[in-house]
Amino acid sequence: MEKVVIIRYGEIGLKGKNRIFFEKKLVANIKNTFKGSKVSRRRGRIILTYSEENSENIVGKMKKIFGIQNFSIGFYVDFDQKTIEKVCCDLANYNYEKGKKTFRVNTNRANKSFPIRSMDFSALMGEKVLASNPELSVDLHDPDFYIGIDIREKGTYIFTDKINGAAGLPVGVSGRGLLLLSGGIDSPVAGWYAMKRGISIDCIHFSSPPYTSDEALNKVLDLAKILTSFNGGRPLMFYSVNFTEAQVSIQRSVKPSISLVVQRRFMMKVCNSVCDSFNYKAVISGESVGQVASQTLENIFSIDDACKKLVIRPLITFDKIDTIKLSKEIGTYETSILPFEDSCTVFVPDSPATKTRIKSLKREEELYEEEELLENTVNTIKIFKLIDGKIEGSDTFENIKKNL
Ligand code: ATP
Ligand code: MG
Repeated sequence: MEKVVIIRYGEIGLKGKNRIFFEKKLVANIKNTFKGSKVSRRRGRIILTYSEENSENIVGKMKKIFGIQNFSIGFYVDFDQKTIEKVCCDLANYNYEKGKKTFRVNTNRANKSFPIRSMDFSALMGEKVLASNPELSVDLHDPDFYIGIDIREKGTYIFTDKINGAAGLPVGVSGRGLLLLSGGIDSPVAGWYAMKRGISIDCIHFSSPPYTSDEALNKVLDLAKILTSFNGGRPLMFYSVNFTEAQVSIQRSVKPSISLVVQRRFMMKVCNSVCDSFNYKAVISGESVGQVASQTLENIFSIDDACKKLVIRPLITFDKIDTIKLSKEIGTYETSILPFEDSCTVFVPDSPATKTRIKSLKREEELYEEEELLENTVNTIKIFKLIDGKIEGSDTFENIKKNL
């Protein structure tokens, strides 16, 4: 008898000719998440056969893999009727202990050499379950739980309880994106939404030591560590940028009211460089219309103008209250609300302009040595490799680029 998870996918089933590509990506992500386990594709389903080492928190991990509509925990056995009967009774008792009282059995007999027809076999197994636990009763129309028996060519799957998955698309099918990750509530949620649409993300963070502390940087690293658990089991790169020199120069040179937007434009220009070096197709940010001064339509437009890639803002029309709810669900909220300063809050002007114009921003940007400042800033980048919620190593931007 093997312990299995029967995995069903939703949207990727509709992808026509690309379906194989989507399925393969999902299989790879499941394999990466449950290393050492066997994963196979079977006509519209994926079966994970997991080992003892992988059995810890299997439901929790499964729920974080995008592309899975729902899944069931179950068993794979041969065709021996006594064994099937025993597994059915055990699964029924497991549900009974969770307070469920009524059930039905659904048999699907793909293997026609199995001697008993589906309906008859469901009835037979139903009787055996009732005999083993008289407190249970059958309800064919609206049962509290069901027992699925899937008789295939080489063996039989028996399972119960469909558990909802994270839905969306397998991470990786939509290419790679660079998430502007701050220490706030919004950007981790924005990253989560991008991953949900199949974008595999890496993170970039701007800090301004000594104005911002090591704790503030560690907090953002912690947020990125949480995001690794949604990233299809693949490593997540974290680009840590020292923004101090640039912020100080910008603040010294441009009108205070527009310095915030100029800083944001500068961040985008650094992102351009990282995107070009490491081939990211999009930049993702946590902006939402009207939330703060930098997030008016005019200012978002001005910031957008500095980025050469597509900028994705999953939360653009979200109410904060909904973002907070999601951040609690995905597990980033408690870290996000830790009270450490962000580079932008340290250098935020007293009364930032809410309606900047690109032409005048560009004029002001000529007041400092932008090229040189950009080069210096890019050279400060340190890269951390995060995997499975841990930092696995770090290197400089220059070194990694040299070895590409
Ligand atoms: P968040 O809660 O994500 O910090 P916010 O509501 O505080 O967002 P802003 O501070 O204006 O809004 O930031 C808007 C977006 O710009 C963030 O969601 C994030 O994507 C990006 N951003 C802001 N500060 C930084 C930073 N220091 N490093 C990287 N990205 C940043
Ligand atoms: Mg912020």
